[in-house]
Amino acid sequence: MYRTHTCGELRASHAGQTVTLAGWVNRRRDHGGVAFLDLRDRAGIVQVTINPDLPKEALDEVANIRNEWVLQIEGAVQKRPEGMANPKMATGEVEVIAKRVTVLNPSKTPPFLVNTDADLPDENMRLKYRYVDLRRERLTRNLVLRHKMIKFMRDYLDKQGFIEIETPIMFKATPEGARDYLVPSRLFPGQFYALPQSPQQLKQLLMVAGMDRYFQIARCFRDEDLRGDRQPEFTQLDLEMSFVQRDDVLSMVEGLFTEMLPAVAPHKKLFSSPWPKFSYKEVLERFGTDKPDLRFGMELVDVSDVFAKSEFKVFQSALEAGGVIKCIVASKSAEMSRKELDALTEVAKSLGAKGMPYLAVTAEGVKGSVSKFVTEAEAAELKSKTGAGVGDLIVFASDARAVANKTLGGLRLWFRDKLDLADKTMMAFAWVVDFPFFAFNAETQVWESEHHPFTMPKLEDLPKFETNPGEVMSDAYDMVCNGYETASGSIRIHRRDIQMKMFQMLGLSDEEIKTKFGHMLEAFEYGAPPHGGMAPGIDRLVMLLADEPNIREVIAFPKNQNGRDVMADAPSEVEPKQLKELHIKFS
Ligand code: ASP
Repeated sequence: MYRTHTCGELRASHAGQTVTLAGWVNRRRDHGGVAFLDLRDRAGIVQVTINPDLPKEALDEVANIRNEWVLQIEGAVQKRPEGMANPKMATGEVEVIAKRVTVLNPSKTPPFLVNTDADLPDENMRLKYRYVDLRRERLTRNLVLRHKMIKFMRDYLDKQGFIEIETPIMFKATPEGARDYLVPSRLFPGQFYALPQSPQQLKQLLMVAGMDRYFQIARCFRDEDLRGDRQPEFTQLDLEMSFVQRDDVLSMVEGLFTEMLPAVAPHKKLFSSPWPKFSYKEVLERFGTDKPDLRFGMELVDVSDVFAKSEFKVFQSALEAGGVIKCIVASKSAEMSRKELDALTEVAKSLGAKGMPYLAVTAEGVKGSVSKFVTEAEAAELKSKTGAGVGDLIVFASDARAVANKTLGGLRLWFRDKLDLADKTMMAFAWVVDFPFFAFNAETQVWESEHHPFTMPKLEDLPKFETNPGEVMSDAYDMVCNGYETASGSIRIHRRDIQMKMFQMLGLSDEEIKTKFGHMLEAFEYGAPPHGGMAPGIDRLVMLLADEPNIREVIAFPKNQNGRDVMADAPSEVEPKQLKELHIKFS
């Protein structure tokens, strides 16, 4: 038997017992002939004390031991003397007095320290030696949290009558708006499987098959540009239900996460129960984005009427062009330096604004870039409408409505981070509903689906398909949390005629519809039930619960920011023989 206990489980109640432990040397300290080895396994870290009374050969061996060596230790658990307990360690009340030390495997000097998160090495280095990096307590904790979350989901959904069903990884294109990863077929020269961007079609086909209440911890593959914290493959809790309307799906998922929070992340608080629900239109107007961070106020205020007769050219021309003047109020920011305001203006410009007018509210009146154009009456009305007081900074966006919203939505987050406005213990879940069905792509001049093309339009809007596609609303919904989209879903089309119309609207020819989606249309002719579902993103939710800055910190073996696996060095070249078998030739 390698061990009797894990390192992390020892407590004062074990005092007096002889135990055998196995683990890695987290840290070594030497003090007047005594060596202290912190021994670590997945369960935690315990201090092992090596006294000089061990036989000389044992002590000689111990002298060589360094960080990350793998040891087996037999010793006696002892309560630490008064005043020597370490309250920062779960095992801090005890130490293990070694009787026997066996080196199971030495280690080269590790490429970086894992016993501290200060001065993290370059991320590529961490990913190259990920098997060492994962030994960090923080990353171990993240993976345990991820496991607990997934286990909770499985148990909860099982109790709600869901069944877990695996769907194929080698399939056919399932459009979610990204590029496909393709797998060449050896047996069918010139033909390819596509990896699913999500199991969307498969879960719908399961509903046609009568497998009501399906879920899967599903891997999704999307070949897209790796902005921010995206990964080419990521994990969703994919679920689908039959004979449901929107609110049936929402309440199922709301119940799941509401109960999950205290069970797996008791350090987090739910911002509001029931979760707030906004229409897409409302959320854009109030927060400037369809994934609002609700943990703080600073809502966008429309002040177009205050400045209806403004002398300020920029305001005038925005209104004349049919745009709006909106603002946000940042408290205690009236004194922001020129330099900071210039930096903020650059942020506004990067969001599409032409500039960033602002007013600082001081005891002597309003000051700032537009103050000379603001009458006293306008200033008074502005203050009463926005609630701004002395010491506040009012930042404006005057432009087309969409640009103004986007600009202020972005600046709102900038102030969140600068003024530390968001309570980090809070999980502010909310629903966004009533999305437009189509988005017009000005570049290609075609209507595109806002969600995937299997989303049901609001039935009463069907007649507007031909006459006014921009006004068609969809039965889609997003779950958002702390400024992230954490899930999206919809009630699906289950009627062949509507699905056909949808594909046609998207500009697909009859031939394309048949070759790409013939199987779906055919299935809808064999008794497809009304159905709907959604797919919360697991990586992002764990990231939020673990307070990590990106999803790579909660994935065991992520790709780096260029989409490479730098540990195994993939993608990589393959043998010419393999290419030949796959009928692939490079020109
Ligand atoms: N398949 C969708 C996605 O991956 C989610 C859903 O509609 O259920 O975003």
